[in-house]
Amino acid sequence: MSMIKEEKLEQLDMKRGTYQLIINGQRMDSQSGETFAVINPATGEEIARVAKASVEDAEKAVEAARNAFDKGKWRHFPVNKRSRILNKIAGIMRSRFNELVELEILDTGKSLSAAQGQVMQAIEDFEFYAGAIVSHRGSVNSLPGAFQNHTEQEPVGVCAQIIPWNYPLMMAAWKVAPAIATGCSIVVKPATLTPLTAIVLGEICLEAGVPAGVVNIVPGSGSTVGNYLVEHKNVDKVAFTGSTPVGKGIMEKASNTLKRVTLELGGKSPSLIFNDADIDAAVDGSLFGIFYNSGQSCEARSRLYVQEEIYDQFMEKFITKAKKLTLGDPFQKETHIGAIINQNQLDVIDGFVQSARKDGATIETGGAIASVKGFEEGFWYEPTIISNVSHDMEAVREEIFGPVAVVMKFKDEKEAVELANDSIYGLGSAVWTQNHARATRVSKQIKAGIVMINCPFSAFPGTPFGGYKQSGFGRELCVETLDLYCETKSIVSYYGDKPLNPLGV
Ligand code: NAP
Ligand code: MG
Repeated sequence: MSMIKEEKLEQLDMKRGTYQLIINGQRMDSQSGETFAVINPATGEEIARVAKASVEDAEKAVEAARNAFDKGKWRHFPVNKRSRILNKIAGIMRSRFNELVELEILDTGKSLSAAQGQVMQAIEDFEFYAGAIVSHRGSVNSLPGAFQNHTEQEPVGVCAQIIPWNYPLMMAAWKVAPAIATGCSIVVKPATLTPLTAIVLGEICLEAGVPAGVVNIVPGSGSTVGNYLVEHKNVDKVAFTGSTPVGKGIMEKASNTLKRVTLELGGKSPSLIFNDADIDAAVDGSLFGIFYNSGQSCEARSRLYVQEEIYDQFMEKFITKAKKLTLGDPFQKETHIGAIINQNQLDVIDGFVQSARKDGATIETGGAIASVKGFEEGFWYEPTIISNVSHDMEAVREEIFGPVAVVMKFKDEKEAVELANDSIYGLGSAVWTQNHARATRVSKQIKAGIVMINCPFSAFPGTPFGGYKQSGFGRELCVETLDLYCETKSIVSYYGDKPLNPLGV
């Protein structure tokens, strides 16, 4: 084979491994021609290159979205047609399920079972909104005499959607599905750490028949592209999931143009384990609550409060089982816990653990960066349980976003609720008790958007997901989300026999 041919083949291979932007229905390189590397956190290896969007590309994407919204057909399609296309997106995702799972694992280092569950939920989110949008409608309100009022739910316009790296495809689905269901146009900015499945989702949307310009995907950095979208006067809404400090900045900047804003931010979610709980269920649920997705979940139940009488018994079982959790090849179904997203996050996690150690807390298990055989270049952290903490320690107050649980005792229900609510956050919470009256009483007092009663799971298509306090506002994953991608237009009509002459002139 000649050198030239070989070179061409190499270029072709590169192309296959290079993911492009999607703007106005076209895949394209970035205007600058720059690309960035995507790393598999389990191995530290580069797995793909992605066109790096800049503000020039973001500008093109906003223009395309604006044009599609103002002049295009999508929002005017009969709702059944949009619904059918959402179902078609879900159908294509189903047919590419294994590929999406594989890509998600390579991109994030998460375990097979976690990735499978999340890709399946992303599919079901499109199916959910395909159904929900059909019955999403305005209201008719009675007025006196010959007046009538009805409301219409109109799509809000061009939405910027900023996605985090912990659940790349699922978080994209939570945002893309309801937005396009209502007729909005979107510019999606995936996290630069994990852009691959969102790009594939954009391609699937096109294949399913979403018109050009309705779904645009611009992988680029938050501080440039993300910020540009947030400040852009032609963007009507920003939906953001990520850290609380960045969320605050977004809210501030969005105020200049009074954009609609929904924020899904950090958490430090408590689990209250009462002495009348099924202890084994509480142990297993709490293991899942903190160690699933390597603790990189906004609703990770990272603060455990256990009633005094059962504390020793609970801890013995909790620690024993935590020690049995396996870290390893994310593609092996026996692996419980996958990798941490990158070195920086690993250092953040370890910093919190070492500060707790220094403050006199007891590291019951874990407490160190892990080395995993065959994956020495990856980023791993040992499942960690910390006790003997006080409520003012950093590790108790701040979101660690890693596989680290802090555990404290409580005396009674009142103290349990006080401790649970003593946080700037209010996203998830869990109550473990077999006393129904107590479960009801306590869940009413917890200041959080989600309460899980004897249950480790918080998010199903149809369940509102979102926070109180500094965990953000707005709800995703539910019917109400559709309202947040719409404006309510109130239409007042008069059908009287006589013309009105209100000023009597
Ligand atoms: P982050 O900075 O808030 O990033 C989340 C998303 O926002 C990414 O797409 C990011 O882009 C983008 N972004 C960053 N700065 C922005 C800005 N000024 N304007 C617009 N968009 C911006 O979160 P992170 O740095 O990846 O993680 C830090 C901490 O955030 C974690 O330790 C965890 O505590 C928390 N976090 C929470 C969630 C959650 O589900 N609530 C998810 C992820 C992280 P790029 O990263 O591509 O630059
Ligand atoms: Mg950041």
